[in-house]
Amino acid sequence: MKNAVVTGGGSGIGAAIVERLRSEGYHVAIIDLNPPADDPLAKAADVTSPDQIAAAFAAIREQLGPITILVNAAGLDGFSKFSDIDFDTWRKVIDVNLNGVYHTVQAVLPDMREAGWGRIVNISSSSAHSGQPYMAHYVAAKSAVNGLTKALALELGPKGITVNAVPPGFIDTPMLRNAENHKNLGGTVEDHIKRTPVRRVGRPQDIAAACAFLISEDAGYITGQILGVNGGRNT
Ligand code: NAP
Repeated sequence: MKNAVVTGGGSGIGAAIVERLRSEGYHVAIIDLNPPADDPLAKAADVTSPDQIAAAFAAIREQLGPITILVNAAGLDGFSKFSDIDFDTWRKVIDVNLNGVYHTVQAVLPDMREAGWGRIVNISSSSAHSGQPYMAHYVAAKSAVNGLTKALALELGPKGITVNAVPPGFIDTPMLRNAENHKNLGGTVEDHIKRTPVRRVGRPQDIAAACAFLISEDAGYITGQILGVNGGRNT
């Protein structure tokens, strides 16, 4: 059975992806800032640190062997008027959401090339499609992740590696509930449900299901796609 790494797998969407993939029999390791303490396949590492990411992948390889599935779910949001976003904050949000994907893909590619098979799924954001006021840094980073996904898909397709993105809409996680406290979200989660065609907030499991499909053999002819999971918003 194949080996997977899920960044941000300690919380919210990432945790649901870990649970789903394990239920399907994959061996799944977690990379997170604060991973679950009782999980032997969980590594504490910051996706912005190439050294920490290299060390985490080396430790996971020791335990599982080559890694051919990568889901990038670690993320950091922020809510400020553009003119109030100082450069350190801008850089931090780009670093976690975009450069983190660079580091993990670099770390996993040798295994995928060697295997002649791989699956990369990047969790971006529906805000990259719609825009979102007061989140310029986050929207810029997630838009870049969608672009990176398309470029990598073209480059890695001939190596048997597919690369897709799943941009979530409003998904009920700690990140969303924390965001709800910021007036700049544009209303409560309940307000957003009223504007969502399927009339409910998304569940982390909705994103996990899309990831599981994109990782499956059935999805081998799907690459470079941005598969929105958003209850019908941003169609
Ligand atoms: P979450 O519950 O906050 O989970 C994000 C995880 O990423 C947390 O465990 C967090 O660790 C970890 N993380 C943050 N910075 C990291 C770093 N530098 N290195 C390693 N791990 C780091 O949020 P979520 O809602 O599940 O979000 C998952 C992904 O979906 C993110 O990429 C987010 O941008 C995206 N997304 C979410 C929504 C939504 O509505 N929830 C919508 C669009 C996109 P700590 O908790 O320890 O900081």
